[in-house]
Amino acid sequence: MKLKNIKLTNPYLELPSLCYDRVKPTPLKKPFLIHANQEVADMLGIDISEREALTQFVNGELKLEGSDNFAMCYAGHQFGHFVPRLGDGRAINIGTLNGLHMQLKGAGQTLYSRSGDGRAVLRSSIREYLMSEAMHGLGIETTRALAIIGSEHSVYRQRWEKGSIVLRVSPSWVRFGTFEYFAHSQNHKELEALADYAINECYPHLNNENDKYLHFFTEIMGKTARLMAEWQAVGFNHGVMNTDNMSVLGITIDYGPYAFLDDYDSNFICNHTDQNGRYSFGNQPRIGEWNLRALALALEPLVRKERLEKILEHYGRLYSRHFLYLMGRKLGLDEVSDEDFDFIRQMLGMLQSLHVDYTLFFRTLSHYDGDRKALLKLGLLHTPMNEWLDEYDEYLSDNKTNQTKRQENMLEVNPKYVLKNYMLQEAIEQAESGEFSLLHDLFTIAQNPYAEHKGLERWAKATPDEFKNQKLSCSS
Ligand code: AMP
Ligand code: MG
Repeated sequence: MKLKNIKLTNPYLELPSLCYDRVKPTPLKKPFLIHANQEVADMLGIDISEREALTQFVNGELKLEGSDNFAMCYAGHQFGHFVPRLGDGRAINIGTLNGLHMQLKGAGQTLYSRSGDGRAVLRSSIREYLMSEAMHGLGIETTRALAIIGSEHSVYRQRWEKGSIVLRVSPSWVRFGTFEYFAHSQNHKELEALADYAINECYPHLNNENDKYLHFFTEIMGKTARLMAEWQAVGFNHGVMNTDNMSVLGITIDYGPYAFLDDYDSNFICNHTDQNGRYSFGNQPRIGEWNLRALALALEPLVRKERLEKILEHYGRLYSRHFLYLMGRKLGLDEVSDEDFDFIRQMLGMLQSLHVDYTLFFRTLSHYDGDRKALLKLGLLHTPMNEWLDEYDEYLSDNKTNQTKRQENMLEVNPKYVLKNYMLQEAIEQAESGEFSLLHDLFTIAQNPYAEHKGLERWAKATPDEFKNQKLSCSS
């Protein structure tokens, strides 16, 4: 449907007015369309062939029928410290279509901007735009993005950069921190209304349950445990796992200084400001649990504390089960059980000590037919890899799946491409000089990371040494 014929709804505005603040977007100067996502347009049912109208829409200049603009209020634990009021400081909601809530990220100040300018610079918008698509391509639930625009609008971040907006969509923008806001401010009526809203939005099958708030927490815990396992299995470090960046739908949201692992390193910290490594790669599952504990505390006015705590006791087991399942698939094994954890741990230790590229290892292993040459080439030393492969051979001999089928299965779960930071950096530098071809290429491989992409094989190699394991700052 053409943009001008579309009608939006705003279900969030039916909540008490403490939950949001109405605000108009402040358009960027001289906007231009950089990229649009046809798949997301199809999900929304929007015809994006009129590029001029689409640009105006993403720039907040074209208001669709029924659209009511607002920013959401939330709190959050940032690096373990509670901040009673955060909120959408630079994201403005513009309405809901086909169950997807649309936000303009970088469209100017809101009531919750504090000292911020409400803008997003081109580099941070490109990172969000490409990575949400890459996450989806990897089969991990995430927010998506309809389009990204650039502009001639100057924005200051230690240097002058250009402002940009991403129109991002999600089936829910409710965060752990949204509940923390109302619990901390003792607005229990709003807390209950929010819980009812979130259940309706995320877990409607719970609507008629007796203990729906307890079940709500159980669902969030299960989804979060699964998400943590998925991040660990694919080698993704989020970088800012504050409770305001945790979705009650258990999907990946708010892309900042994230990274995919280069060489495997469980201690890797992608966020430059995270000096103590609270959000290091290896800590993520534990932080997921810490954040769920903060959410449980916020839900105490609705559910007895002991009952929430009982549910939380299952987190570790749920996480491990998912992780084991995913690693079993990555290794091409028919069956895995708790006893195989040692074997997986041994493998990760081996990858870490030999400085092996995590993604490349599994992709190479997917072609393994007994000839070890390609695998041995990936590490600094041969002996630890050979010892591990001796054991792997034994595992494979217990497999019922034949070698060809095993290889096929593994190639479907071990990506050839992940968007590492050095690749994004090159696309960003190009984009800053007005050239977007690499952004288009990275979008293509993000959408289908398991396929071979002719002409783009360069991006499937190990990260060049000079770009390995670098940290990024939050200033975006
Ligand atoms: P983040 O680390 O991106 O999740 O942001 C944490 C909080 O800071 C959120 O409430 C954001 O909306 C807010 N924020 C981040 N950058 C800006 C900005 N440039 N202007 C206003 N608020 C911002
Ligand atoms: Mg955030």
